[in-house]
Amino acid sequence: MKKLKLVMIGNGMAGVRTLEELLKLAPELYDITVFGAEPHPNYNRILLSPVLAGEQQFDEIVLNDLDWYAERNIRLMLNRTVVEIDRGKRRVTAADGSEAEYDRLLIATGSNPFILPIPGTQLDGVIGYRDIADTQTMMNAARTHKRAVVIGGGLLGLEAANGLKARGMDVTVVHVGEWPMERQLDKAAGILLQRALEARGLNFRMKKQTAELIGGGQGRVQAVRFANNEVIDADLVVMAAGIRPNSELAANAGIPCDRGILVNDTLQTYDPRIYAVGECANHRGTAYGLVAPLFEQAEVCANHLAMLGFSRYLGSVTSTKLKVTGIDLFSTGDFMGGEGTETITLSDPIGGVHKKLVIKDDILVGACLYGDTADAGWYFRQICEHRNVSRIRDHLMFDPASYGEQAIVDAGPQYRDKTAQRLPSPASWMGRTSPASRHGATA
Ligand SMILES: Cc1cc2nc3c(=O)[nH]c(=O)nc-3n(C[C@H](O)[C@H](O)[C@H](O)COP(=O)(O)OP(=O)(O)OC[C@H]3O[C@@H](n4cnc5c(N)ncnc54)[C@H](O)[C@@H]3O)c2cc1C
Repeated sequence: MKKLKLVMIGNGMAGVRTLEELLKLAPELYDITVFGAEPHPNYNRILLSPVLAGEQQFDEIVLNDLDWYAERNIRLMLNRTVVEIDRGKRRVTAADGSEAEYDRLLIATGSNPFILPIPGTQLDGVIGYRDIADTQTMMNAARTHKRAVVIGGGLLGLEAANGLKARGMDVTVVHVGEWPMERQLDKAAGILLQRALEARGLNFRMKKQTAELIGGGQGRVQAVRFANNEVIDADLVVMAAGIRPNSELAANAGIPCDRGILVNDTLQTYDPRIYAVGECANHRGTAYGLVAPLFEQAEVCANHLAMLGFSRYLGSVTSTKLKVTGIDLFSTGDFMGGEGTETITLSDPIGGVHKKLVIKDDILVGACLYGDTADAGWYFRQICEHRNVSRIRDHLMFDPASYGEQAIVDAGPQYRDKTAQRLPSPASWMGRTSPASRHGATA
């Protein structure tokens, strides 16, 4: 039987994971072509931070080497940026003129770093933090230059700052918020984090709005000016002020996008032949920026590409960890709390520990941990599974793992039934009337 043609745009973490899942389910269904703008096979982007900090090497973070593609007869088009999707002819074209026709198209183009709309961003020495090339640029700059400014005190910014410091630069983190990682940590945890990073030699300029990057003699950045006209020196500026889904290519092809490529619960776009996964996709109003949800999307998308058509992606609970050796933090869910929630807090600023749990209607809905993350996995599981924690409330802060499981067993069938009702039902997950079939996806 003649194989169908599957083309994938974007050779990154979510896309290749989708291929891996697809090849498990239907290894013979497609002739596969992959276009990747980067010159590398798929690598673990998450581990760029340990590479920057000198803890790992580039070749150690490759996930699928060139042999992996060759052994599966995948036509790999590296260093080729797709510039056009022609939906009428079902063909994609790359910047160098190379083309591929498709029966199914998978868009997995990830995100772009958000570059602040201020003067000076075109100067040499101003970069985002997204890929191997950016990491290499930072490593080179650390050999030849001294002063780095990282704009953005979120996860990416702090990991960039930590890596540059480890490579000997003087690093200042500029952040518009009151404390670092304010989207993941409450104030108490954020302040502990800032202190710990300051103790390692990082400088922070909080509540600062960057207004301009000032160039020096040879077109290289020389300083950063804030909105209050204060100026600090910089010969490397890393923009880590957020990401934007890379959906322009899809939008230009007339595929509906709104802060990402709009997809349904099967990861199908409005064009039934075209799917999108990863950071470029907007599912039910959310474009995820962490890898765990993207791998869940990959599994569902593969199921539909394999034409099994029975799984749905319903969204994910996310959690955050910072990859700075020696700093333990974790946050997930609604960690700030608010109306209708109760919080349990343990704070030991001298010992560098802060733990906050947020409960709503007897269900754990959020956790923010700094300094002691031993129970992070357990809390995360309770939140994902919507477990009732009323019987173990007094034990939640201290080693809940062993006690928690016992409490659920002790609680008897009535309690277990209640818990079960809150879990996503297998029927809804496996529902056969998936949006894919409504779109009538056919080859
Ligand atoms: C430094 C860093 C640290 C991170 N740390 C964490 C972490 O600790 N935990 C976590 O969960 N997540 C982390 N992330 C985020 C995580 O890496 C991403 O969520 C994940 O890589 C997204 O996968 P993706 O496939 O959607 O995009 P990507 O992995 O970015 O892959 C997209 C690929 O598509 C290519 N592409 C784009 N446009 C085109 C085109 N037109 N033609 C061809 N190719 C194209 C891009 O070059 C890229 O290679 C981190 C990210 C970075 C940058």
